[in-house]
Amino acid sequence: MNLNVDAAIIGAGISGLSAAWQLQKLGIKSFVVLEARSRVGGRTFSELIGTDTYVEQGGTWAGLSHREFLALASELGIATKPGQRAGDFLFKIGDRWTTLEAPDAFSSNAARQDFEQVLSRFETLRRSLPQAAPWSAEDAEGLDALTMQDWIEQNTTTMEGRAWFTGITRQTISGDLRQVSLLWMLHFFNTTGDVFLGLNVDAEGIRFVGGSQQLSLKLAERLGNQIWLDAPVRQIAGYDSSQVQIMSDRGTVRAKTAIVAMMPKDVKSIEFQPLLPILHRQLIDEWRTMSWAKFYAFYEKPFWQSQTTGSHFLDETTRFDVYDVSPDDGSQGILVGLLSPDYASLSAPERKACCLNFLAEICGDAARRPQNFVEFDWNRQAWTGGCITALPLGVFSKIGSALNQPVGCVYWAGTERSLVWTNYIEGAIRSGQQAADQIAAQLR
Ligand SMILES: Cc1cc2nc3c(=O)[nH]c(=O)nc-3n(C[C@H](O)[C@H](O)[C@H](O)COP(=O)(O)OP(=O)(O)OC[C@H]3O[C@@H](n4cnc5c(N)ncnc54)[C@H](O)[C@@H]3O)c2cc1C
Repeated sequence: MNLNVDAAIIGAGISGLSAAWQLQKLGIKSFVVLEARSRVGGRTFSELIGTDTYVEQGGTWAGLSHREFLALASELGIATKPGQRAGDFLFKIGDRWTTLEAPDAFSSNAARQDFEQVLSRFETLRRSLPQAAPWSAEDAEGLDALTMQDWIEQNTTTMEGRAWFTGITRQTISGDLRQVSLLWMLHFFNTTGDVFLGLNVDAEGIRFVGGSQQLSLKLAERLGNQIWLDAPVRQIAGYDSSQVQIMSDRGTVRAKTAIVAMMPKDVKSIEFQPLLPILHRQLIDEWRTMSWAKFYAFYEKPFWQSQTTGSHFLDETTRFDVYDVSPDDGSQGILVGLLSPDYASLSAPERKACCLNFLAEICGDAARRPQNFVEFDWNRQAWTGGCITALPLGVFSKIGSALNQPVGCVYWAGTERSLVWTNYIEGAIRSGQQAADQIAAQLR
């Protein structure tokens, strides 16, 4: 099939679909969305298990400050529910579980003061960065030459202060801070606003009835045949002329302008003619992500709730990150967790055994015998090269400026491009809307 349109959008994740929806609202009707998979939603994927339980394999939670996410859900008539069971965020430090608010969170005043001072230093440094262009900071290269872990080591004096700060920071990416640039982490926290300690609550307080993929599914319903599924884009040619040609497995689309709506790393699946400028090529080649397996364990009853005040459990080394999402009426026990990328090379049965061991650390031995166990490994998905971004040393300062720079008539979207809530669905929606505004201005 061949088609001529004003605008083509490549990628039907929530950023691409938000771009399409925004174009429609701006009165631009001549567009098509090309998606490689047989489904919309990209990194949001909600599967129905049984009659009324949705397993969210990808992006799940929203927070109160996710303004565009909540507005879109409300516009589409999607109801919300609490993000998890009410309870404490428990952190395992050494062999004890505790909360930051607990009087015994730190074993000495020196450790507590150490934690407070490292937090304050980090926040001061973070606020000193130019938020819209962190790569242009005076010391951007220096900040990008230091790992987050090295910076923590250099700025803490006690083992406990360090462990708390490392754990809380690691939790945001569920990955190893020894591999992540300080500049990138500062940027990441800048995009989330002033909520360092509250990030967990601020970003994970709300879920959606039917799962977050509902947003993409409902947008797709409204956009109808303007979405082509099973249409991986293989080549984009002539982006430097007045008509770009987009070659997909379902045909060629000729458009006046286009939005590529996916993480920079995933753009690698598309050949550009002529070659993209060098900075854009480096952006695509050097982009790195964290990739987890996400798992659900179902139990007849939430038997652990009588023994713990916790509803979110994280261990010092972030091998696992587990939430209690059981229904409030106690009719079933449901734990959902992320398994660290460190376990990516294990087989599925080995990963399952690891997950159940971790659950047993939290809830006791009975956790080893779930009624049902469901796992989704994002390390093994076609068309998506990871879960969320965490850049290594020397990348962001060098290529960050290309993130939102159009090339010819091609614009970019995807959560990674957003300066607000990057890595989150909120960032994806905002980046899509922004790219649509840009191309609408070009088309007028
Ligand atoms: C396990 C997990 C848990 C998460 N938890 C949360 C959470 O709780 N809250 C939150 O806010 N965020 C969370 N996130 C992040 C969130 O899911 C993402 O930020 C968001 O979904 C990204 O949307 P996007 O449109 O930018 O990218 P994507 O969803 O990746 O969309 C890109 C689309 O492009 C398509 N594509 C790729 N290549 C091609 C091609 N050549 N041709 C055509 N199409 C192509 C892909 O198939 C995909 O559909 C989580 C992510 C994961 C994986």
